[in-house]
Amino acid sequence: MQTIVVVVEVPLARTFDYLATEPVAIGSRVRVPFGRRTLVGIVVGSGGPAPADTTLRSIDQVLEDTPPLPAEWLRLTEFASRYYQRPLGEVMLASLPPRLKRGPPLRASALRSAGQSPAGEWHFVDEHPLTQPQRAAVSDIDAASDRSGTFLLHGITGSGKTEVYLHAVAATLRRQRQALVLVPEIHLTPQLEGHFRTRFPGAQIQVMHSNRSAVERALAWRAAQIGSAQIVLGTRLAVFTPFSNLGLIVIDEEHDPSFKQQDSLRYSARDVAVWRARAGNIPIVLGSATPSLESHANASSGRYRRLTLPGRARPGSKLPTLSLIDIGRETVTDGLSASLADAIESNLVKGEQTLLFLNRRGYAPVLACNACGWIPSCPRCSTHVAVHLSERRLRCHHCGFEARIPPRCPDCGNADLQPFGRGTERLEESLATRFPQARLARVDSDTMRLKGTWEATQEAIHAGNIDLILGTQMLAKGHDFPRLTLVGILNADSALFAADYRAPERLFAQLQQVAGRAGRDVLPGRVLIQTRFPDHPLYRAILAGDYNRFAQSEWLERERAGFPPAVAEAVIRAEARTPEAALVFLARARELAPEAGDAVMVYDPVPMSLARLNAWYRAHLLVQAPQRSALQRYLTLWRSAIEAERTQRHVRWHIDVDPIEF
Ligand code: ADP
Ligand code: ZN
Ligand code: ZN
Repeated sequence: MQTIVVVVEVPLARTFDYLATEPVAIGSRVRVPFGRRTLVGIVVGSGGPAPADTTLRSIDQVLEDTPPLPAEWLRLTEFASRYYQRPLGEVMLASLPPRLKRGPPLRASALRSAGQSPAGEWHFVDEHPLTQPQRAAVSDIDAASDRSGTFLLHGITGSGKTEVYLHAVAATLRRQRQALVLVPEIHLTPQLEGHFRTRFPGAQIQVMHSNRSAVERALAWRAAQIGSAQIVLGTRLAVFTPFSNLGLIVIDEEHDPSFKQQDSLRYSARDVAVWRARAGNIPIVLGSATPSLESHANASSGRYRRLTLPGRARPGSKLPTLSLIDIGRETVTDGLSASLADAIESNLVKGEQTLLFLNRRGYAPVLACNACGWIPSCPRCSTHVAVHLSERRLRCHHCGFEARIPPRCPDCGNADLQPFGRGTERLEESLATRFPQARLARVDSDTMRLKGTWEATQEAIHAGNIDLILGTQMLAKGHDFPRLTLVGILNADSALFAADYRAPERLFAQLQQVAGRAGRDVLPGRVLIQTRFPDHPLYRAILAGDYNRFAQSEWLERERAGFPPAVAEAVIRAEARTPEAALVFLARARELAPEAGDAVMVYDPVPMSLARLNAWYRAHLLVQAPQRSALQRYLTLWRSAIEAERTQRHVRWHIDVDPIEF
C-alpha cells in the first residue's frame, strides 16, 4: 500500500493522507472519503509505502477522465494560495470546473466529441496591413516569445489593440503554442469569439466562462490541458485553465475591476496572469485605453514594457470631440439639458445614432413620502431601495431584496409617494415622450436579463434599426457601432466626490470608454458631458485627453496620501449578525498582530462603507506595507495566529489582498 497526500475543498490549511494500492501521479484527481462525505481531491504529494499498522483510509477511485494536472498548474495554484492567503485545497478545487469536482467522470462519448482532438489545418486571415505602431507592438511581443515580458499595450479606443492581439496570437500558434485571452465581462465574449473564429478558420478555439454548461466547461478545460485547444477565450476564471504548452496571455481592458473576484478566493485574474507568464517565460499583453494606475506605475518603473498606439487605426477615423455642458447654467428638463436635447434632435434628423449614458438602473434611486419624509430602505442592507415602476416593485441593488411599492406611506398614511432622482427606466419614459419618432433601446441588466436579448439588440443597432440607445455601463465596453456619432453622458458628477480613492481613475476610464463608442467609423463623433462642475480638474484632464498626465498626477496624489500603488495593502474583513461582534473580532485580531516595527502599518477596525449587506454587518481592518513581500510574510504569520485562536463563532472572516472594496 502507498500513502498519498491529498488536498480537498475545506477551509483548512492542511493536506490529508490516504492509502492507495499503487502510486498515484501528482496532480491526479481522486475521489476520497472525508468524514461521512465523499469528495474529489487533488494529489499533491506521495508519502511512500505505508506502514503495516496504518489507520489511514483508502481512496475510492482515481479519476481518469482528465490527465493529471500539470506541474505548471500546481505551481500556479500554490502561488495563488500563498499570495491570497487561502488554503491550497480551496484554491485548487475552486478553480476546477464544477463538473470535475462533483458528479461522475466525463463519459467516453463526450471525450470523443469535437474539440477533444487536435485541430487540422488552420490559417490566419490577415485583414488589414498593420499600422506602424501596431507592427512594432506585434514584433516586440513576438520577440519575447521564449523569454517572457510583460507588455502594457496602451492604445486609445479604436487604435487597433484587438488587431495586435490577433496578430500576436497568430504568431504564437505558428510556434505550435497555445494562447489565452481574457476579457472582463461575459457579454464581451461572443463578440471576441466572433472575431477569433473569422480570423482563425480551422483553429480550435475554446470559450470558458460561467454561463457555459457544466459539461462544456469541463471539456474546454480538458481540451486546453491536453493541448488540442489552440486558443482559449474567457473571463477571469479562465486564468486557472491548465495548458500543455501555453505561449501567450492577453488581458483586454486590463484596468477593469471585474478581473478582481469579490468573494471566496479574492484574486485578481490580471495579477495571477502576470505571475503565470513570468513563471512560464512567456509574454503577456495587458491592453487598455486607460491603464490601471498599478500597471501605469509598473510601466513607468520599467517592470512592464509600454507599447503605445497613439491614433485610431482605421484610416479617416478621428477621435470624437469632447465638450462639457454646464447644467448649472442651462434649463434641464427630465435630466436633459437644452443643448443635449438639441444635439439629439439634429442627430435624429441626420439619421445618425445617439447613445445616452446613465449609470443607474431602475426608475428612480429612492422613493419618498412627501408628507413625512419616509424613505423605504432595504431590511437587509444599509441602503435605500430603488424604484422599478413598470414592475411596481422596490428593489435593493446590493442584495436583490424586493417588495411591492406600498400604496401609501406606512408611517403617516399619505398616498403621495414620489420617486426622486432618475434611473434608465425613467429616462426611457421621458425620451419616448420627447422624441416620439425615435426608435429607442434601453440596455441595462434589467432589460437584458433574458438570454439572447443583448445579441438581438446589438444586431438591431448594427442594422440601423435603433436611433437612440440609452443604458448603463453595459454599453460602455468594447462595442463597435459605426453609425453612432453622438454620446451624451448624464450624471458623471456623482463619482467626483466619492470617498473611494479609486473613483477618479474609474470615472476617467469609464468616460473614455463611453466616449470611445462615438465616431468609430468615418463619421465624426461628438461627446457631450453634463456637469455642475465644469472646472473640476478631472474633467479638464478628460477634455485634454492626456491619460499619462492624469495618471501621473493621480500617482503623486496616491503617494502623498499613502495609497496603492505607492504601498501594498490588504484588509482583514469580518461579517457578523451584529456590528459589535464584527468589531470585537477585529479588535482581538489586532491584538494578535505580530510585531513588525516600521515594515507594516496596522490600522484600527472600522465599519465598511456599506456597513450592512444581506443582513451581515461588515467591518474591516486595513494593513499596509511599503513592500509587497513584507506584507505577504506578515499576513501569513498573522493568519495562523488568528486561526489558532478558534474563537470565531458567529463571525465570518477573511483576508482580502489588494482589495478594491472598502
Ligand atoms: P481597439 O481594440 O483598440 O478599440 P480595434 O482593434 O477594435 O480597436 O480596432 C478599431 C477598428 O479599426 C476596427 O474596426 C478594426 O477593424 C480597424 N483596424 C484595426 N487595425 C487596422 C489597420 N491596421 N488598418 C485599418 N483598420 C484597422
Ligand atoms: Zn409619510
Ligand atoms: Zn439589500
